[in-house]
Amino acid sequence: MNVKVNANYLNLKKNYLFSEIARRVAEYSSANPQKRIVRLGIGDVTLPLTPSVTGAMAQAVAEMGKKETFQGYPPSYGYDFLLKAISAHYASYGADIGTDEIFVSDGAKSDAGNITDIFGSNPVLITDPVYPVYFDSNVMAGNAVTFIPANRRNGFLPPPPSEKINGALIYLCSPNNPTGAVYDKAGLKAWVDYANDTGSLIIYDSAYEAYIKGDLPHTIYQIEGARGCAVEICSFSKTAGFTGVRCSWTVVPRTLVSGGVNIAGLWARRQATKFNGVPYIVQRGAEAALSERGYAECMDLVGYYMENARVISELLTRKGIYFTGGECAPYIWMQCPGGLSSWEFFDMLLEKAQVVGTPGAGFGANGEGYFRLTAFGTREDTYEAVRRLETVI
Ligand code: PLP
Repeated sequence: MNVKVNANYLNLKKNYLFSEIARRVAEYSSANPQKRIVRLGIGDVTLPLTPSVTGAMAQAVAEMGKKETFQGYPPSYGYDFLLKAISAHYASYGADIGTDEIFVSDGAKSDAGNITDIFGSNPVLITDPVYPVYFDSNVMAGNAVTFIPANRRNGFLPPPPSEKINGALIYLCSPNNPTGAVYDKAGLKAWVDYANDTGSLIIYDSAYEAYIKGDLPHTIYQIEGARGCAVEICSFSKTAGFTGVRCSWTVVPRTLVSGGVNIAGLWARRQATKFNGVPYIVQRGAEAALSERGYAECMDLVGYYMENARVISELLTRKGIYFTGGECAPYIWMQCPGGLSSWEFFDMLLEKAQVVGTPGAGFGANGEGYFRLTAFGTREDTYEAVRRLETVI
């Protein structure tokens, strides 16, 4: 063949984190078939959809089977009923987001990965360690990335750099995957001020906002000035167990304008061209998840996972091991004890306790020496993992 490929793809690093974990676990299992392995590495939910959601989806299925209520292509940016429910969700946090500023999509991953389509070549700032999609999508777009180190000194909540970088795309994720760290209002305000000062745009991923407790911002639009400098990507995946159902949204305020161009207009054009909307049945389920009863059920799911997080955090606190997360996020980011590297600790846990987590080094250079445990396991597995960890850390 003689076609030119997008050579930027050749610059992607091989994503070997989860395949390498699977390889080491498979090797250990085949050598030790009698040992039961407990997995706290998963970033996927384990509890089923709630009754409100399945009830609404079943009703939507029935509607699709009748001539009078059948739906064809959904509106490109989401049905009005869901846009209104999402807008009301923002209002519950004191943020005024219009239905014309919300774009429903099939996943936060899609939107976080696709948003580079509407921007030219800009400086890109990404915190490290990081959810890999932000970095990889910028490599695909041929953009140079500057990493902002998150580490123990800044509690894995890095402030803006002292250097003023103009016109940057800044990726922030709070609560953070993998560190579970959450920005408070002052921490987020510093980024909003930096972005407004430098004419930069924040791409804010709030996929885990439902896990926040207390007086911490659930959305960047709780911060003054954010409507002039931020888009926000959020998802039903971890709030309502929609990882397999697929529904999310992105907020692009109509107040975002760069060089006279309206950013929401560009995103609308991109989505209408390359995306054909989220199924009616799914959007009815998502609407139900945001209803009063539906949201209370979602909070039960979140509460279940957060009890797992509490049990893991309690062990680490008792052992005097430094960690972030676990309080307002389903991730616990722990320092590997005894100065072990991420992979050395992985191997040690597998060998001595048959517990699997995720080596921090897989999320970026600053993840070396750290390890991610998740609260998404079953209660039984989490208790069992904690019992085993007790004796080896
Ligand atoms: N953003 C972050 C920070 C995540 O950790 C994940 C999933 O693990 C996603 C986005 C993906 O969400 P979705 O299932 O909506 O694509």
